[in-house]
Amino acid sequence: MYLTRLIYASTISDNISPSAIADILDSANKHNKLNDITGVLFFDQKYFLQCLEGSRFQVNETYNRLLQDNRHSDLVLLEFKDISVRAFPDWTMGFIPESVLSKAIHLKFSPRKNFNPYNLRSDSAYQMLLELKELLPE
Ligand code: FAD
Repeated sequence: MYLTRLIYASTISDNISPSAIADILDSANKHNKLNDITGVLFFDQKYFLQCLEGSRFQVNETYNRLLQDNRHSDLVLLEFKDISVRAFPDWTMGFIPESVLSKAIHLKFSPRKNFNPYNLRSDSAYQMLLELKELLPE
């Protein structure tokens, strides 16, 4: 089974408070550990940008569950490709909240200062997540 990377953007639902993020991360970490999925989730209070890496089947299956989750909407697939090596092997789901440092990083890859993952090229989204990874605690 091939190793695959999936990157998507989504928008937090109106009725969901940012404090629900802890529930999302608990669920993500639990399922991802079981499924050998690794990745990162960036959240700026409005939008999510997430990368999942793992077996093609498990990544697909997880994305199908994500599509059903009404805590976010407007999921747009930015990238789905076979890869030879994981970029985030140490994180079942590394969480990166918006910060002064993350703002500086996303400006490098975005046409506008305000973060909008729907306007990112797929390669920019990936490169941006790689740089944001450096903000994760060891
Ligand atoms: P169940 O836990 O049985 O839940 C069924 C549905 O109920 C869910 O799909 C959701 O719509 C809803 N739900 C569940 N808990 C809550 C709650 N506390 N508040 C409101 N609604 C709720 N899952 C992963 O496995 N890996 C990930 O990396 C991952 N990342 C996520 C990133 C984001 C931005 C979001 C919003 C969700 C993420 N999830 C992730 C969660 C995923 O969508 C599913 O909820 C989770 O995988 C559990 O699936 P399940 O079928 O066991 O659902």
